[in-house]
Amino acid sequence: MIDHIPSGSVFQVIKILNLTEYSDQLLIATNLDSQKMGKKGIIKVSNLFFRPDEINKIALVAPSATLIVIRNFEVIKKSQVEVPDCVENIVKCFNPNCITNNEDIATRFRVIDKKEMKLRCHYCEKITARNNMGFR
Ligand code: ZN
Repeated sequence: MIDHIPSGSVFQVIKILNLTEYSDQLLIATNLDSQKMGKKGIIKVSNLFFRPDEINKIALVAPSATLIVIRNFEVIKKSQVEVPDCVENIVKCFNPNCITNNEDIATRFRVIDKKEMKLRCHYCEKITARNNMGFR
C-alpha cells in the first residue's frame, strides 16, 4: 500500500507505476482526510511488490509518500520514498528543441536538487524543474 500521496498526484502515481492495466485487486482512494496533510490519497495493490527503484520514481510527484508492505494483515515494512539520483523516461524535457522531444529517444536526467526537484537533461543539459515538469 502507498500512503500519504498528495491528493492531486494519485493518478500520476498510478501512471508512473503502470497500474492502469493491473489485473489484480487495486484500490484507489483520494481526498481522504489526513491529520498530517489535510487531504491525501492512498493506493492499495494486492500481490505486487515494488522494487525500490520503481517506487522511488513516484517521489517526483509524491515526495511525502510512504510505502507500507502488508502480509497476512500485518505491517512488515514501512518506508519513505526517496528521490532517485537518475530519472529515466518518465519526465519530459521542457526544452522543445531537445532531441528527446524530436526523436524517439528515452529521456534521461540527473537529479541535481532533490528538494526543489531540479532535473538536468542528459542530452541538452537544460534544467527541468517542478514548475515546468511534464510527464510522458
Ligand atoms: Zn533535454
